[in-house]
Amino acid sequence: MTKDDCIFCRIAKGDIPSGTIYEDDDFRVIFDRGPATKGHALILPKNHVANIYEIDEATLSKAFTLAKKMATRMTEVLGCDGFNIVQNNNEAAGQTVFHFHIHLIPRYKDDDAKVGWKVHDITDEEIEKLVALFK
Ligand code: AMP
Ligand code: ZN
Repeated sequence: MTKDDCIFCRIAKGDIPSGTIYEDDDFRVIFDRGPATKGHALILPKNHVANIYEIDEATLSKAFTLAKKMATRMTEVLGCDGFNIVQNNNEAAGQTVFHFHIHLIPRYKDDDAKVGWKVHDITDEEIEKLVALFK
């Protein structure tokens, strides 16, 4: 399934040239055009789904298995010191391209990438209330 107005559909299907470092029947892995660090890449499924809520479990499993494979290979090739796997869903979480993708972000000692959040305080009572929501 392709969405005509989706840039990642066009890249994933090969209609637009990209810096591809891996491809199979289900995925293409390309370099990000706005990299956080040297080697920042994206796993794109070839079928259009917007986010983690829409993707089927079999494809999601394959995507994260591929993330491990790519992280291992990229660490060997690039000699990075660490690795972030990031996956944003919906605008509130920072998603800007609404075709599911996994960010592969090599990390280097002293790089200037910012992947993080402000730490807040939480009480035992607040945790208990959250736990109760899942019962
Ligand atoms: P997100 O904010 O999680 O939706 O990530 C979208 C990512 O796609 C950003 O890191 C962009 O730099 C990247 N991006 C947007 N357009 C392109 C493109 N044409 N080729 C490669 N990467 C892109
Ligand atoms: Zn798409």
